[in-house]
Amino acid sequence: RILLDHIKCAVFELPFQADERFGQENLQAVLGLLQEEGFVDCVDGRWYWMNESYPADAVSLRSVSSDNFVVVDVSDEATVIGEVDFTAATATLYEQAIYLVEGTQYQVERLDFDRRKAYVRPVDSDYYTDAITYTKVSVLEEFGRGDWVTAGVVGAVAPVRGGTAPSVGSVPNERLGVGCHGEVHVTSRVVGFKKIKFYTNENVGSGELDLAEQEMHTTAYWLVLARTFVKRLPFAGSDRRDGVVGLGFAMRQVAQLLLMCDYHDIGLAIHGDQVRPFGRRPEEPVVEATLNDPTIFVYDNYPGGIGFSEPLFNLHDRLLANARALVERCPCDAGCPACVGPIGKAGPRAKEVALALLGSLSPDAPLLGESS
Ligand SMILES: [Zn+2]
Repeated sequence: RILLDHIKCAVFELPFQADERFGQENLQAVLGLLQEEGFVDCVDGRWYWMNESYPADAVSLRSVSSDNFVVVDVSDEATVIGEVDFTAATATLYEQAIYLVEGTQYQVERLDFDRRKAYVRPVDSDYYTDAITYTKVSVLEEFGRGDWVTAGVVGAVAPVRGGTAPSVGSVPNERLGVGCHGEVHVTSRVVGFKKIKFYTNENVGSGELDLAEQEMHTTAYWLVLARTFVKRLPFAGSDRRDGVVGLGFAMRQVAQLLLMCDYHDIGLAIHGDQVRPFGRRPEEPVVEATLNDPTIFVYDNYPGGIGFSEPLFNLHDRLLANARALVERCPCDAGCPACVGPIGKAGPRAKEVALALLGSLSPDAPLLGESS
């Protein structure tokens, strides 16, 4: 879809030659498709734009689909103050949400999902809101799977700051983890929100929400951790879960750098052996409890995918090596927003456990900023 729109714009500006190429894509096949739809025509070996419309109108540089939510300020006359991506709307424009535009706070009074409108009013609030989203990923088709990392192949666990690393112990040739990529189905639902005070980050209230589920097909890279390996870590069950969540958080940070993308371009979901969904506090109920191997999904956060997953799969070794370096070298004591997640969101021992996991999983690979 993105490619189609861009080729439409390109041919509008300048006709393509019949033997021209566009990157690795089969340009002639795409043009043939557009010809069937009446957008272009081939005359004397050149492709010309034939449609009355101006193709760039349909392209937004900020988002993939043009199905956006409009934010309307109803305080004075109804004024449109912003637009929000369809995929981000339920997590930012739920009723009572605080929505920020150029330093002004607005509170959402009503979300008209069918008409794609959110009605807001300016407020002066000492807190912001943070949606609690529950995301479930299921694999539709696996396109590729790397080799299992097995015990004894990589180096020993690196010492944790201020102490020695716990011995993970190993069974020779035991399977530890494997990277995969493929097509996935992502279901996400905003189940509530928290009110968080500015400056102190205190949680000053919460609310429940019952918004429509959002579904999309997209592509993902995922890391499967062998359940037997995770279970053998010398930590309590809840700490092990926190560690897997912390590892996911660190992997997302590194993935963002490796792919040179924005925070919102990729999504994170963690599944498995009673791993709590990311962002939930321990007192909140565990929604997903399966007997599968804990799995960390890093998915393309746009319907159809935008081509991040296969490159990320190919960078699997560098992803883990850099995640390990990130967590190892981070000067914080027990987690921070730069490594395994901020204190309060990450568990108390998340950093230790994430390091133990990474120490066993991560082979030597060039680090970011070092020659590769
Ligand atoms: Zn840190």
